[in-house]
Amino acid sequence: MDREAVVRDYLQLARDAAIQAVALSAGKIRVRSSVRMKCQIPLCEHYGTNRACPPLIPELATFREALQDYEWAFLLGLVVSREAVRGHEPELALDDFVCRSENWALGRGYYWGFGLTGGACYRCPRCEISRPCPFPFRQHPSPEGMGIDITMLAREVGWAVDWPPKDRVHYFALFFL
Ligand code: SF4
Repeated sequence: MDREAVVRDYLQLARDAAIQAVALSAGKIRVRSSVRMKCQIPLCEHYGTNRACPPLIPELATFREALQDYEWAFLLGLVVSREAVRGHEPELALDDFVCRSENWALGRGYYWGFGLTGGACYRCPRCEISRPCPFPFRQHPSPEGMGIDITMLAREVGWAVDWPPKDRVHYFALFFL
């Protein structure tokens, strides 16, 4: 399958799942220490207490270098009206789609595909980092945790993002191929 067909296929997968998606060159993704620093200053409750958050996720230098091996970054989005938000359902729905994306890529021989989903991992009521993770293949760090200003990126592609949220809440993820 040629590269453009892969992108078309993936965008269709996202459309079928009612997920907004834009294909970007992976080279457009900037990894900034200032964004990662916001996990610690002021201190986020998930810092060091959730496996999908710093300092339990890769160092930015490692991630920056690894991204050089990727061609595409798909920006994924979900918009939910504020009254319809129920707990962490939107984050988990996007994370489920990222898991599907990884399986979709694997099925086509692109075993290196991986994703990032907004926020911490919310699959358990509480992340018990002293015990084995019950869903090791279903948790992803966030773009922000990996130093990516996802709000700025979404605005750059022309999405109208209310941040802080007003009537609608925007949720974002990234999928790298
Ligand atoms: S699945 Fe549970 S234990 Fe694993 S990272 Fe997520 S919250 Fe933590």
